[in-house]
Amino acid sequence: MFFTVAMTHILKARRANLRISEIFYSIQGEGPAMGRPATFVRFAGCNLNCDGCDTQLKSWKEISCRDIFERIRGKRVIITGGEPTTQMTGLSELIDLLIDNSIEIHIETNGTNPITKKELSKLHYVVVSPKHGSQVNFGYWATKENVHFKFVLGKAEWCWPVEAIEKQINFLPKERIWIMPLGNDPDLSLAKDSWDLALRLGINYSDRLHIRIRRK
Ligand code: SF4
Repeated sequence: MFFTVAMTHILKARRANLRISEIFYSIQGEGPAMGRPATFVRFAGCNLNCDGCDTQLKSWKEISCRDIFERIRGKRVIITGGEPTTQMTGLSELIDLLIDNSIEIHIETNGTNPITKKELSKLHYVVVSPKHGSQVNFGYWATKENVHFKFVLGKAEWCWPVEAIEKQINFLPKERIWIMPLGNDPDLSLAKDSWDLALRLGINYSDRLHIRIRRK
């Protein structure tokens, strides 16, 4: 009897569906894993409302972790959004399933919600892309070696002014900081400014390869 009740509980607990906008196979075009092939799993929904954001408005479907897993190509998954941490229960379940199958996991987050240290230890790369003006616990994220910070330079309200980047990076490990230009035009008009700033501050520059060559 106990066994039956316990098993039912476990089965229910492991049956979370996730709201997913899209799943596709491509090459990571930006950040510390730039150039690497991966299956992208884009979570729907976000707790922020950045001006000009198009990702959180995309339509979505509820998909089980098992069905997501069945659609993965290769041995690397990039979980992005929207904001993946707004579906933490299902996200944890998905992480465990991927780990059990020796899949390398990357997560991209706006950094406003914590990911526990136990969950963080299961991840290969975490890219925190903080939005200027939002509440992010930089001290917490900075303690983990697999966490990288990606600051976006641009004219949108949520992008980072140069002075704010200069101030913020004093408290972070420089080798894990990236500056990336905003833009969906292959010319990336702010690329040179971002490049020069990264060079001046001694931090990393990230291009947007998928934008340059008009790929997803
Ligand atoms: S944090 Fe990202 S997904 Fe969320 S609203 Fe801002 S740009 Fe969009």
